[in-house]
Amino acid sequence: MNDIVFKNVCKSYDGKVNVIENLNLTIPAGQRLILLGPSGCGKSTILRMIAGLESITSGDLYMGGVRVNDIEPGDRDVAMVFQNYALYPHMTVNKNIQFGMEIAKVPKAERDKQTDWALEILGLSEYKERLPRQLSGGQRQRVALCRALVKKAPFFLLDEPLSNLDAQLRTSARAELVKIHEVYHPTFIYVTHDQIEAMTVGQNIVILDKSIIQQMGTPDEIYNKPANVFVAKFIGSPCMNVGDARVADGKLWIGEDGVEIPDDWKVIIGDRSRIKFGIRPEHIDFAEGSGDVHAKVTYTENHGNKLVVAYVSGGNEMMACLDPFYKLGDDMYMNIQWDKIHFFDADTDKNIGYPAR
Ligand code: ADP
Ligand code: MG
Repeated sequence: MNDIVFKNVCKSYDGKVNVIENLNLTIPAGQRLILLGPSGCGKSTILRMIAGLESITSGDLYMGGVRVNDIEPGDRDVAMVFQNYALYPHMTVNKNIQFGMEIAKVPKAERDKQTDWALEILGLSEYKERLPRQLSGGQRQRVALCRALVKKAPFFLLDEPLSNLDAQLRTSARAELVKIHEVYHPTFIYVTHDQIEAMTVGQNIVILDKSIIQQMGTPDEIYNKPANVFVAKFIGSPCMNVGDARVADGKLWIGEDGVEIPDDWKVIIGDRSRIKFGIRPEHIDFAEGSGDVHAKVTYTENHGNKLVVAYVSGGNEMMACLDPFYKLGDDMYMNIQWDKIHFFDADTDKNIGYPAR
């Protein structure tokens, strides 16, 4: 079984502070897993430890049941694609893809077969004899993917491979990546700081902040039940509104406005007097004239199919996606949708849970 297991893994560069602190993570064989987090949180370091390109300072790393701490990169059976996928400029597409197999002394007939197979999957068959400079950026990146694909390695590692592509190409490339995984189901680890890429490509997502795992779950779990404020704000665009509220007399107070808390939520909120609430911009229910909580529109942005509105309520700045009819300075009322709201502990930022429904 080609699973990957980190046990109490720490990594420091030059004996200085740990950039990875006590990592415990199991990546099941054949899974498409995303490592997601802001720049500098340690994603590449984790991937490079799997590839064997970085040493492990302490702890154990197992791949396919074997402890690999001291195994050379060349003996780990990994294929890796980087953001800067240098192709050999003087070699044709065909040659670029075959080169690694030539070094590995794969017989010519087999090399040709594998190359044609990979080119077909990535829609590059007709570009086989071109040089890299005769290709677009997206095509070059697909050649780099072909080059990794022909290795048919049980571990497929990708480090922000789409960052150099423009937005439209990134969208189509995401589908190619899923397709590659479906071809032979390698254990697939994909590093990105882009939450949309993570949500669309991942079967499971690990969210990191400052080298600590914040949550691991399916895209749905992470979107619907974020473990803490960091995850809640990292996933979704525009991001989740998280504001401060008070709890008193059975009511949730946002600024001067108090809203009766339903009984099932009261049990979850307990005896807290301060709390953070979270509402996604797409879940805001605004009303004119009257409603639960007063708000004032401070900014509007036309996105064509929707209006993104910033507003202030009880001192909290928030965003909403609405039908386009509000304007700057409008007085609005926000109705709390109790089946769409999230609550976080005011001190720890941790999600306090949800009523069973
Ligand atoms: P990410 O890929 O999430 O952006 P990295 O894994 O590249 O993050 O880096 C994590 C941390 O380790 C960063 O603070 C970075 O500055 C540091 N770091 C990465 N590589 C080295 C290195 N070779 N020497 C010293 N520090 C490094
Ligand atoms: Mg990186």
